[in-house]
Amino acid sequence: MPRSLHRLIYSSRNRIEGPVEGHEAAVRQILAVSRRNNLRDGVTGALMFNAGCFAQVLEGPRETVEATFERIQSDPRHGDVLLLSFARVETRAFPDWSMAFVGAGEAGARLFAGVATESGFDPARLSGEDLFDLLHERLLEEEYAEA
Ligand code: FAD
Repeated sequence: MPRSLHRLIYSSRNRIEGPVEGHEAAVRQILAVSRRNNLRDGVTGALMFNAGCFAQVLEGPRETVEATFERIQSDPRHGDVLLLSFARVETRAFPDWSMAFVGAGEAGARLFAGVATESGFDPARLSGEDLFDLLHERLLEEEYAEA
């Protein structure tokens, strides 16, 4: 495990253009590019999306995570990017995921309804630690539900 392993957590607001029906396809495209790049760069993590917001965890060598976040920050498909946490960690929480997606499928949609109620659809109101726990727990629950 690289000595410089870091974890970055942020939230942002959806700025995908066009009708809401097209947003799922746009997120799928973001995920496809993310997985390709992150696999190449040794970055792992998870992305959560709802109609209003994104939340993402990025893990990897410090310089690579910083470079990835630089690209993400300047992407016009979201805005109000809020860095919640950037810290050195000992191990990856999402070692098998070049970018896991939380909120996909029926089980995910049901789980997301719970998040909406808890946070008022605003991940920016959650701390980095809360968002990390949420993404990690929800991913495990979705994997369990789909098994
Ligand atoms: P390219 O391969 O040149 O382009 C990537 C693809 O995205 C192309 O098909 C292009 O048409 C399309 N695209 C780019 N900008 C737009 C736009 N404004 N509207 C429509 N389509 C567009 N990238 C990562 O590498 N890792 C991540 O974890 C990651 N997470 C992201 C999370 C969010 C919420 C968002 C919004 C973006 C994320 N991205 C991530 C994408 C990132 O912002 C860059 O678009 C991407 O890294 C560029 O990769 P590339 O240089 O290989 O681009």
